[in-house]
Amino acid sequence: MTVNHPEDAIADLCARMRAFIDDEVIPAEPVLAKEDAAAHELLGQLRSRAKELGLWALGHPADVGGGGVPFLDFVYLNEVIGRSEFGQLAVGSVSMQDTIMLHKHGTDEQKRRWIPPILSGEFLPSVGLTEPDAAGSDPTLIETRAELDGDTWVINGHKWFTTGVAHAGYCTVFARTEPESTPRHSRISAIIVPTDTPGFEIVRSIPTMGHDPSDHYEVLLTDVRVPAANLLGERGKGFVVAQDRLGPGRIFHGMRWLGQAQRAYELMCERANTRYVHGSLLAEKGEIHRYIAESAAQIHAARLMTLDAARTMDSGADARIQIGLVKFWGARMLHDVVDRAIQVHGALGLTSDTPLERMYRQARYARIYDGPDEVHRMSTARRLLRDPGAAPWL
Ligand SMILES: Cc1cc2nc3c(=O)[nH]c(=O)nc-3n(C[C@H](O)[C@H](O)[C@H](O)COP(=O)(O)OP(=O)(O)OC[C@H]3O[C@@H](n4cnc5c(N)ncnc54)[C@H](O)[C@@H]3O)c2cc1C
Repeated sequence: MTVNHPEDAIADLCARMRAFIDDEVIPAEPVLAKEDAAAHELLGQLRSRAKELGLWALGHPADVGGGGVPFLDFVYLNEVIGRSEFGQLAVGSVSMQDTIMLHKHGTDEQKRRWIPPILSGEFLPSVGLTEPDAAGSDPTLIETRAELDGDTWVINGHKWFTTGVAHAGYCTVFARTEPESTPRHSRISAIIVPTDTPGFEIVRSIPTMGHDPSDHYEVLLTDVRVPAANLLGERGKGFVVAQDRLGPGRIFHGMRWLGQAQRAYELMCERANTRYVHGSLLAEKGEIHRYIAESAAQIHAARLMTLDAARTMDSGADARIQIGLVKFWGARMLHDVVDRAIQVHGALGLTSDTPLERMYRQARYARIYDGPDEVHRMSTARRLLRDPGAAPWL
């Protein structure tokens, strides 16, 4: 395998995925973006089509019914899927991090109950880490409590930004179960809470940039009772469980962001090559050359960085430094490239006539979800200061 391209076997699959995304998902974007009943129906049709074409749930483990495409190969596919904001919903890859987490930490019963409906697309999983009253950047501060009453967990707390929970079958709730334990990281556990459990109340959809309602929810848990067997992983090991979801998730995000950035870059070049102003095409202006060249450099650098992180992770080595770099650098790259593409489109870039304004919102979110830029810079810098020899180029 070269650095830039997948092996031949996966190249064919990437080409088929590209045809589906470019020819069927991207043309559906204007309807999907309305996020109404018609959008929901169209998404269902695209999912059926992805299944027909053998493009559904490709990266999910084979022994639970997924396509079994190996992690590293899926990384390349994810770049193609990412060309459309709706790609991962259309091909069933949006739930991959959760399946990986369940596959690694779930009991046989948990896997039997929850993985099949996720894989079939019947519902999505959701995750409740972040809370309105405690800094999500530091999950050791989680205030939600879970206490054992016989063989039942009783959970009380307040979560928000619980993405997709209104359509999810369950929520993996991270709660404090060992309040006195040290270090602080060992106080949190992960517990699977079916969303129809009494006391699990979705308070509202949170209005976010340009989305009201949005798919991010505020949730109150009041005396929510679930069996002790709903513990995911070990008691006090919630951080380990979360990391096994977030690690691969950040690589998948990094590749999806590249798909989005490449599309924004293509739109920027197309516009620069056709828009005439002040005596020449935009493509002939020095400022625009800078936008194009800087975008190409950022995309190329982020791609090499993300592929390197993916290979390091795939080899079983500690990839935390590489993943930290991808998270803040990749999100910034996406933000900058989309911003320049909007600029080159002028007022048109701010309208919904191009996908750029939605991409911009997604890019802004990317700098906060799964840990804000500052936190990844901090933890990466700390690791490098402790061991300068761990720099990824050494
Ligand atoms: C689109 C989207 C989807 C999300 N989906 C989910 C989900 O499904 N489930 C879930 O649990 N959460 C989800 N989140 C929440 C997200 O993970 C948190 O917002 C994030 O971890 C930051 O936590 P916070 O919002 O509490 O910010 P805070 O922790 O309050 O941080 C606020 C700001 O402080 C700064 N900061 C924090 N720490 C440091 C530091 N050490 N040094 C310098 N500056 C610092 C950063 O600028 C940061 O943005 C989602 C968020 C978004 C935007």
